[in-house]
Amino acid sequence: MTPKPARPARRPQPARPVFELGGQRVEPGELQRLDLPVSKLPTGTEIGIPVAVAHGAAAGPTLWVSSTVHGDELNGVAIIRRVLKQLNPKALRGTVIAVSVVNVFGLLQTSRYLPDRRDLNRSFPGSPRGPLAARLAHLFLEEVVRRSDVGIDLHTGSDGRNNLPQIRCDLSDPATRSLARAFGAPVIVHAALRDGSLRAAARHLGIPALLYEGGEAHRFDPMSIEIGARGLIRVLVKLGMLEGPPPLGEDEPFESQRSTWIRSGKAGLCEIHATLGRRVSVGEVVATVFDTTGRLEHAVKTKVAGIVIGRSERALVHRGDALIHVAEPPHA
Ligand SMILES: [Zn+2]
Repeated sequence: MTPKPARPARRPQPARPVFELGGQRVEPGELQRLDLPVSKLPTGTEIGIPVAVAHGAAAGPTLWVSSTVHGDELNGVAIIRRVLKQLNPKALRGTVIAVSVVNVFGLLQTSRYLPDRRDLNRSFPGSPRGPLAARLAHLFLEEVVRRSDVGIDLHTGSDGRNNLPQIRCDLSDPATRSLARAFGAPVIVHAALRDGSLRAAARHLGIPALLYEGGEAHRFDPMSIEIGARGLIRVLVKLGMLEGPPPLGEDEPFESQRSTWIRSGKAGLCEIHATLGRRVSVGEVVATVFDTTGRLEHAVKTKVAGIVIGRSERALVHRGDALIHVAEPPHA
């Protein structure tokens, strides 16, 4: 009789440290909703950023996911809610820091900006003493971003624009590109880092960050929410934080190094024919601009080929207004 192979001795796992945020503690294997104090409203009401921390039972990377850096962009709130409902911290390796609403002030005013019209996504890295936008940026960077290995920031189109679900990131960085592909959105667009943006601040700290865009401001778009939630789970699987298999996503996304806005050559009323996700070729009529009598018609043709990743939803246009956003194929 052959002796049974001896079971490998289980090494005792060192206990995972408690995760602390804003003076509050989250035990390993717990999901907790916390409030990170920011400031006071003029009425004296304390105001904080809502943060959910899923602190996995086992060790692993820390991922932050944030939404509503622009206060009127709401799809990310629904994406985070959906993912948190699925997330079992006992089965998680590592830690997820989820911030549904970074710009709470903008949300309260249904505005993209802070109350002083500053854009939070141009206010990073911020400072503990500057205007509200700088303080908020600084707090978020120190408490959330700096403690993460990877980040995903969720946005929508702005200013009457609707976006196809897409990842914008620095495709020249291999780690970032690999995460972008894992996300599985239909399109990935290379986007240079802008001064003052959250992505640029994360990059400065050596933390790869993706920006997900889908749908439009003020509204929930079911498709963008679905693709965003799946994408987030797919990234967690890719990082080894969750067991696979990953949810369905685009395995061969359209990767673009450059995107171009097609603008109106005339003022008037505009019907856009190009739908999101459609492939367009050079010279194709993508919109018609007409005057109020409907007599004078002006055809807007695209000067580049590619996939429509954004479009204006406004009927009234001025000369030079951006109508559709086209992601060009590589080597165009
Ligand atoms: Zn945004």
